[in-house]
Amino acid sequence: MSNVKHAIKLNYDTEWEYAPAPESTDHISLKDRYDLFIGGEFVAPKSGVYFDTINPANEKILASVAQAGAADVDRAVKAARGAYENVWSKMKPAERGKFIYRIARIIQERAREFAVIESMDGGKPIRESRDVDVPLAAAHFFYYAGWADKLDYAFPHKTPKPLGVAGQIIPWNFPLLMAAWKIAPALACGNTVVLKPAETTPLTAMKLAEVIQAADLPPGVVNIITGDGSTGASIVDHDGIDKIAFTGSTDVGKIIQRAVAGGDKKYTLELGGKAANIIFDDAPIDQAVEGVVNAIFFNQGHVCCAGSRLLVQESVAEEVVTKLKERMQTLIVGDPMDKNTDIGAINSAAQLERINAYLELGQKEGAAMYQAGGKTPKKGYWCRPTLFTDVSQSHRVVREEIFGPVLAIQTFRTLDEAVTKANNTQYGLSGGVWTDKGAKIFKVGQKIRAGVIWANTFNKFDPTSPFGGYKESGVGREGGLHGLSAYLNLH
Ligand code: NAP
Ligand code: MG
Repeated sequence: MSNVKHAIKLNYDTEWEYAPAPESTDHISLKDRYDLFIGGEFVAPKSGVYFDTINPANEKILASVAQAGAADVDRAVKAARGAYENVWSKMKPAERGKFIYRIARIIQERAREFAVIESMDGGKPIRESRDVDVPLAAAHFFYYAGWADKLDYAFPHKTPKPLGVAGQIIPWNFPLLMAAWKIAPALACGNTVVLKPAETTPLTAMKLAEVIQAADLPPGVVNIITGDGSTGASIVDHDGIDKIAFTGSTDVGKIIQRAVAGGDKKYTLELGGKAANIIFDDAPIDQAVEGVVNAIFFNQGHVCCAGSRLLVQESVAEEVVTKLKERMQTLIVGDPMDKNTDIGAINSAAQLERINAYLELGQKEGAAMYQAGGKTPKKGYWCRPTLFTDVSQSHRVVREEIFGPVLAIQTFRTLDEAVTKANNTQYGLSGGVWTDKGAKIFKVGQKIRAGVIWANTFNKFDPTSPFGGYKESGVGREGGLHGLSAYLNLH
């Protein structure tokens, strides 16, 4: 990730100051109101109800979006069913691939617009949406477009068949990227979809609906409906849905699992995490510190696989914590549109409240809290990067997912102790190991019960690589071949 900083003046007493480098918002166009995208067109919700989506960096209303009720969900599922039976499942796979390639190319062409809207609606720094979210979203469509006519090769000796209509429910932390993770493999396999973005970040999904129109997809193949949790529940409960793909919290994941139990809907759940980053004393310390910053502070800690726990070997703990605190002082919290910004706005008032409750709780539990200084804007939702030390396994700030820029630090003496502590969690989505020794990487990698382990790096993604959790972090995998098989009947 590029991190170009334009220093204009060094203030020797305190900190660097940077000339503002705001991304222009002139080139984007947003409607005042977004309807539901069903059957290839934008239609008003039967309920007649709309709700506002705001920019969390300044609390201004960006647009109002439709609240889909059960009748709207039904209409979307029927549109998806019709498109599945009459068009999409009958189309030659290579033709399906062409449509998916087209979506990928249009996202690339409109990348700047997508990045700006993603940052305005969700609060993430423009550097992040420009360099990570949007290129990865396009990459997912490109990757799965390539598989559309090669499913027989992907699964030799099987007869891959689509499942039908997929209901897809996504969270607010990577809105466009999660839509891409869901839609691309579903379409490549011949399914049609009904997708619901999160309440606080619906705009790039609605822009994606425009792309799908521009790509001339047959009406009903992709339906995008906005709404809240009740809309999600109506999708889960609808009889016309063959598969549920959900990304979100473990609590809602459990509700969905209960709702589909006993029926024949297939499901994949990508849920929460509380990943440990493990730094051994032979690690390149400066690189590891930068990796930890990337793992928990960038993107406001709004990452399911964030390295929200740090386990550091006792002999280097003091050095690591000192360097981490120094680095935290240089992190810029503020305007997501500014290219200098490291930590943007917290996604919503509700999420900020949740994070602040954990900050209070951690201190009440007896942990030592350190927060980097610096001003934050008056309007909007902000949280400065925060560390907790003097914590034990039983502290709630060590056990529970905070989903903010908050890191809990523990120490260890031996590899086994590090592994035991890392695995002492209900979650198992990801982990990181920092060491000079390949053998240690393999040992730790094999012993950590988590879906992905990064070695001497963190938060690296690629569409070819499967992603998903152990334990309460989820069921099933997305990405790569695994992601294809989740949308196929392989008998
Ligand atoms: P959430 O509250 O579980 O919401 C996720 C989605 O489900 C939203 O679209 C939400 O709608 C909807 N929803 C809420 N209640 C529902 C219900 N009863 N039935 C069906 N759908 C329902 O999670 P979040 O707060 O948006 O996202 C943060 C969580 O996502 C974190 O726990 C994070 O770890 C997890 N996450 C996991 C991954 C992964 O790949 N494992 C990736 C990203 C995020 P509303 O927005 O309207 O509430
Ligand atoms: Mg918003």
